[in-house]
Amino acid sequence: MKRTYFCPHCEVTLNPSTKLILRVAKGQQRGLVLFSPQPGNYNAIWSPELQLSQGDRVSFYCPVCCEDLRFETDEHFARIGFATPSGTTGQVLFSRTLGEHATYFVTKETVRSYGEAAGQQAGLNFFGERREPG
Ligand SMILES: [Zn+2]
Repeated sequence: MKRTYFCPHCEVTLNPSTKLILRVAKGQQRGLVLFSPQPGNYNAIWSPELQLSQGDRVSFYCPVCCEDLRFETDEHFARIGFATPSGTTGQVLFSRTLGEHATYFVTKETVRSYGEAAGQQAGLNFFGERREPG
């Protein structure tokens, strides 16, 4: 089942091929990152110009409309939209900190978490909805 990811601002598809592509910035550094669309797979490809270290907090932007993708409710996270072929839509929240593997798929009904750091955020309760283990 192929998920589609999209910009929450301009709704452009962010994974037109096998990877999800975002603009990334830290300070004066600018580049692109390719993520796996598979939840829990943290193998990412970063522009070689980016000099980043584990623990760095970066900003993600839509590559088309250039809107900042930070999650307004908790700036620890970035936010994009997702849709499944069966018509389920929701939001993906993922950590902006390199090496911190915490990702949440949030729909009206559920929150599913991925990544070993996700449990550390167990006190969070996005949108007041119940959580289920991934
Ligand atoms: Zn956009």
